[in-house]
Amino acid sequence: MSYTDEIYARVVEQNPGEPEFHQAVKEVLDSLKLVIDANEKEYRAMGLLERLVEPERIISFRVPWVDDKGQVQVNKGYRVQFNSAIGPYKGGLRFHPSVNQGILKFLGFEQIFKNSLTGLPIGGGKGGSNFDPKGKSDREVMAFCQSFMTELSKYIGADQDVPAGDIGVGGREIGFLYGQYKRLTGLYEGVLTGKGLNYGGSLVRTQATGYGLVYILDEMLTHNGQSLAGKTVVVSGSGNVAIYAVEKAQQLGAKVVAMSDSNGYVYDPEGIKLDLVKEIKEVKRGRIKEYADQVASASYTDGKGVWTIACDIALPCATQNELGLEDAKALKANGCIAVAEGANMPTTREATDYIQENGIMFMPGKAANAGGVATSALEMSQNSMRLSWSFEEVDEKLKGIMKDIYRKAADAAERYGVAGNYVAGANIAGFEKVVDAMKAQGIV
Ligand code: NDP
Repeated sequence: MSYTDEIYARVVEQNPGEPEFHQAVKEVLDSLKLVIDANEKEYRAMGLLERLVEPERIISFRVPWVDDKGQVQVNKGYRVQFNSAIGPYKGGLRFHPSVNQGILKFLGFEQIFKNSLTGLPIGGGKGGSNFDPKGKSDREVMAFCQSFMTELSKYIGADQDVPAGDIGVGGREIGFLYGQYKRLTGLYEGVLTGKGLNYGGSLVRTQATGYGLVYILDEMLTHNGQSLAGKTVVVSGSGNVAIYAVEKAQQLGAKVVAMSDSNGYVYDPEGIKLDLVKEIKEVKRGRIKEYADQVASASYTDGKGVWTIACDIALPCATQNELGLEDAKALKANGCIAVAEGANMPTTREATDYIQENGIMFMPGKAANAGGVATSALEMSQNSMRLSWSFEEVDEKLKGIMKDIYRKAADAAERYGVAGNYVAGANIAGFEKVVDAMKAQGIV
């Protein structure tokens, strides 16, 4: 059995009931096979893969809080500190009922390579809770966040572990979490990113993941003789990543015709009016359905069929495994030429294989959505310097980082004889830097 097969079998055996984690490890190991086979003896001797797939630490804790009726509620809280070879742990917090340890391990594992790809000194981590902020009052969200941070604060710090937002954790939640951290520790430090602009946040952080996604998409299209201007785009989700991907795609001349949420999707052949989506989602915290109630040219459909809409470019920006094989076939049949993942692992393995085998350009989330964490790292730099950069300065740096990620992924793919396979390229480029650091630091 090859070293990679052995490690995958070990991961499945030792991490039962964690299918998303198994899936993420398999995808990474498969695309690293060429590199690992070439260095097998050395890697085996140092237990490199065994160490890479085992988180350095997982903290799991109880989060008790009191709801508006005076009832005590209890949620599960986690922080997965996966790998600190190249910097302090860095990765978001997700508050969603689907959160469990396996999902956070998948996300933390992916984060190691993504963070490495950014070229910035940040290790891999992820955390969260099965708490659902949807439908909760501000007071309930604050009570939950304060309880969550009371425990988490023991394990994080500006030079140790710096969480950020993710699904269900936006500016409001980061504010409550930061306030409680400061109150408990007495430290005004850059322990969280995605902070408000008045208390240490960075300009562009809100837009960073969506903008970065479109910057790297544009780079991929240009290198393949295409351009974004005039293309028809479908975006899934209507959260932070989706909204700013739509904004940048529209700025670069694309026409976005559909967006979705977990209930259904809207189709507007005249082009999505983003101000209205922002009003519905960012201000009212409403449902995407309301868009069709207010726009005559738009229609709303319940369910997951957003990928049946004809488009040149598909940007999955909602959640993991939201684009399956049948969706990929529908995209191909409708003439789609490129898929770039705004969300983490939104495309299933079967769909990814189908897309790549059928000549559709594919940029994996690890590279495509790295703009968020990269800008978080820029927020950390600004906090350490006690300085704030202008919007244009941060945006330029973000653009440069996304171009650099494209180049690294494309070069690594070419070096290993799989030109155009950005999945392999991103994994290899991210892996090489982490491995060098792990080798240098000995068996820890
Ligand atoms: P938000 O919570 O802002 O938005 C998530 C969107 O996806 C919402 O429209 C939500 O719909 C939809 N969604 C969530 N869960 C499901 C589900 N199970 N089925 C269908 N739709 C769903 O999150 P973000 O935009 O921040 O994150 C989206 C993705 O991008 C995630 O995979 C995240 O890990 C990834 N990501 C985010 C980064 C960031 O900077 N924010 C950075 C890198 C990656 P509804 O409102 O109905 O729940």
